[in-house]
Amino acid sequence: MIYESIRQTVLDAILEAVEKGLINGTSGNIAMRDPEDRDIVAITPSGIEYAGMTAGDIAVVRMKEDGTNEWIDGPYKPSSELPMHCLVMRKRPEVNATVHTHSMYATICAMGENPELRPITPPQCEFTPVGIVSFTMPGSNDVAQKVADTLGDKGLVCLIKNHGMFSCGKSMKQAMHATIYTEEMAETTVIAKTLGTYEPMPKEAEEAMQALIAADQAV
Ligand SMILES: [Zn+2]
Repeated sequence: MIYESIRQTVLDAILEAVEKGLINGTSGNIAMRDPEDRDIVAITPSGIEYAGMTAGDIAVVRMKEDGTNEWIDGPYKPSSELPMHCLVMRKRPEVNATVHTHSMYATICAMGENPELRPITPPQCEFTPVGIVSFTMPGSNDVAQKVADTLGDKGLVCLIKNHGMFSCGKSMKQAMHATIYTEEMAETTVIAKTLGTYEPMPKEAEEAMQALIAADQAV
């Protein structure tokens, strides 16, 4: 099997996301760039149940210089959100892993006039600020462009209105952490607002935490 290592990484991540309740049925998709062949991406297939999937079922795509993405291996066609995953990897050379989910609380928070998501606990500060993308048709080049623009040079997560969230990282571990902590942030936000006890971390504390996290990552 070609590109077995990145296909296995994508498979492990999607099964973990299903187990954690971040992904239901065939919603959501995950991609991983090859560490050597930087234009090669493994991505979950379109419309196939993740339970019982094997590494060989994960699609392999080449990001071509003309801006198109060519499906080169795997029995099932790549996720319809391929443009979103590939555009973020094209624009951000340090990004090697991308995760898109319709997880419940992030989706609830991705509504309303001002869907700002603020950190509730210190570990969540690694992934803020969380951007917001207005509703755009799923699978379109338009939503890919909006997500890439909203993430900008440094963003790790954004919410997509009436759709879900998109996370990225230099490793699959970081992209999955971004997804898990953003869903946690959204869930605690929704519950605290319901109880009337919503109190996110102060901006100064969030920035101090981010400085600590950045220093640790520099070591
Ligand atoms: Zn979606």
